[in-house]
Amino acid sequence: MEWWGWLLVGLGALGIVFGLYVLVRRLIWFLRGFIMGLFSELGKGSLSGSESAQPRSLSSLESLLLPQVLRDFPEYNSALAAERVRRDAAAYYRSGITGSPAFTDGVTKQFRTVFAAALPTGVKGGIIVHRVALHAYEAVSLDRMLTYQAAVQYTDTDDAVRQRRLVLKYVASFTDDPANEMKSYNCPNCGAPIPVIGNKACRYCGTALKTPAGLGWRLYDAHEG
Ligand SMILES: [Zn+2]
Repeated sequence: MEWWGWLLVGLGALGIVFGLYVLVRRLIWFLRGFIMGLFSELGKGSLSGSESAQPRSLSSLESLLLPQVLRDFPEYNSALAAERVRRDAAAYYRSGITGSPAFTDGVTKQFRTVFAAALPTGVKGGIIVHRVALHAYEAVSLDRMLTYQAAVQYTDTDDAVRQRRLVLKYVASFTDDPANEMKSYNCPNCGAPIPVIGNKACRYCGTALKTPAGLGWRLYDAHEG
């Protein structure tokens, strides 16, 4: 075969591999959303009947997890992150009052769709976020995920005060569509491909790397539990 024939075969193979990669990512994100939804339904069932005037207890693993988070994300700021989680936890229940998702930005496309179809019900007002806690930090392939818990209080439509524990999960991503995102970029010095997360220097030429701009934490799941 001529050289251009091999080139075409190579390009074709590359296209197929990329297509498969995108397909598998979509599938993983779909299954993840599906399983989360299932668990949140189960959680709701077990919650009813166990009411208390006290805020729900949370388990913070921040002191244990923070060093790992800071190793991958030196710019991570606990106070700012907690502020953000408080805002999102309040928005979760406010959505039940307004009848539409009250999150502004920093939410994945998939979560927005799933959430809009199953808004919290019976919320009247009096939303108070008592406390938030960092609960888990996970690395799955190139994805980095943070899980927080929030102790939230609200008044329901029967004027009863409800105490809830909300679990909020975030993924590090450049866009609101992490399922279709390539999580690598190129070294500004030598051009070598570099995974976005967890690399503070280029493996090939040693150039120090900053976390690329635009990378942020996107909410991809929230449920009571
Ligand atoms: Zn380099």
